[in-house]
Amino acid sequence: MVRSTALDPVPPQIGHGIGPAAYAGGQLASAVAPPEHAYAGLSVPVAEPPPAGEMAAQDHEIADAIAQGRDWMTELLARLVEKDTTLGREETGQAVVREALSELGLEPVDVPMDAVALRAHPAASPFDWEVADKRNVVATWSPASGFGGLSLILNGHIDVVSPEPRSHWVRDPFTAHVEGGWLYGRGAADMKCGLAAILGAVKGLRALGLSPRAPVSIQSVVEEECTGNGALQTVLAGYAADAAIIAEPFGAAITTSQVGVLWFDVVVQGLPGHAAESGSMVSAIESSLPLIQALRAVEAELNASPPPPYDQYEHPISLNVGQIHAGDWNSTVPGECVTGYRIAMYPGTPVADIRARVERAVADAAAAQPGAFATPPEVRYRGFAAEGYQVPPDHLLVQSLSSTYARHLGASPALVATTGTTDARVLGAAGGIPTVCFGPYAEGAHGVGERVYLPSVIQTAQVMGLFIKDWCGVT
Ligand SMILES: [Zn+2]
Repeated sequence: MVRSTALDPVPPQIGHGIGPAAYAGGQLASAVAPPEHAYAGLSVPVAEPPPAGEMAAQDHEIADAIAQGRDWMTELLARLVEKDTTLGREETGQAVVREALSELGLEPVDVPMDAVALRAHPAASPFDWEVADKRNVVATWSPASGFGGLSLILNGHIDVVSPEPRSHWVRDPFTAHVEGGWLYGRGAADMKCGLAAILGAVKGLRALGLSPRAPVSIQSVVEEECTGNGALQTVLAGYAADAAIIAEPFGAAITTSQVGVLWFDVVVQGLPGHAAESGSMVSAIESSLPLIQALRAVEAELNASPPPPYDQYEHPISLNVGQIHAGDWNSTVPGECVTGYRIAMYPGTPVADIRARVERAVADAAAAQPGAFATPPEVRYRGFAAEGYQVPPDHLLVQSLSSTYARHLGASPALVATTGTTDARVLGAAGGIPTVCFGPYAEGAHGVGERVYLPSVIQTAQVMGLFIKDWCGVT
């Protein structure tokens, strides 16, 4: 078993028992217990991957060439992190991606969002914001000669979630800070590190003068964090392949199964009035609280008997109360309250089923409290209407990527199910492209102090470069 010699020495384990040492495949035989995934607690193994093999001479050349791009990848990641690419602001990050693709000698092509086409597609998620100026960026690396292998999409998303409350951050969240082998900042983990790894893999292969024997499509998409409609737009534009890898930072694992996610708002109308007067007023805020409890009961029902592979989780389905907007004056009884929720669903569960359960729970809870609602509460939808997705562990893509990983790192990746959603369902279900997630080791996605372990970015790029050789063939 051989692993790359180009890795940084592994620093001592830090934090709460999930150390970077665990990512490095060659470290797995040590006494350090490895994490099976990044995003601690959000993934469980679903199957045994194939055993490790041996690296060929060309493998070492590829791994070394990619490792030589480490500073380029780190600098690219830092430039990406320093762009605020929250919803509606993605374009500044896409400009950096276009520059990097051009620097590699590839031609970036814009795939603009088309609101009409998206709204007409059954797999689109609903949205009520402007998308006219948003563009996905795609570059196709075509064979120089000798077509023959399988084609591949390497995909990442440029959008990030809000870093608020910024007061919780030690530094500006849109400043990249490197310390102890980690790069910190909003999007460092989710998932600009993956984009840097994808581009680093391509850079290393091209530095060796290699060309794939089947097209490799490199994609930087918008709106992964709220709809998946960016990835869907690439499908609508005709981008397809024999397989896709999304470089989400699940670390030391191949994610083969993911839940679906539904976003919904519950709109409650009260009866506003002066706080000093008792009697006829109804507080929309206080009337919203029992609805949260009613929806928690739905969550509990969904968690009561999870199907495999989610039966390995104690609590695979999470309801999140993500935002509440109500009231504007301390002496006025609030007349409207809008609560924004996210709930997950198992693969195979139609979105319509979860919508029906949510609507019934809200209606029943309102009916049980006459007088608490000026009008029946309304459930509205915008954002994720995303079903779950899974690729069988014995699928050629999973076996092949596992084998590449094991050959390079000397230990097999875990095959995991995640309790989050990704664009894999869009490429996989809507695009018909078998898709898995594989990316760097990171912590704190969507949280404060989000960070990625930089050696894992290099390793991810190396495995991706070697996978291009295995899957597509190179000449
Ligand atoms: Zn992500």
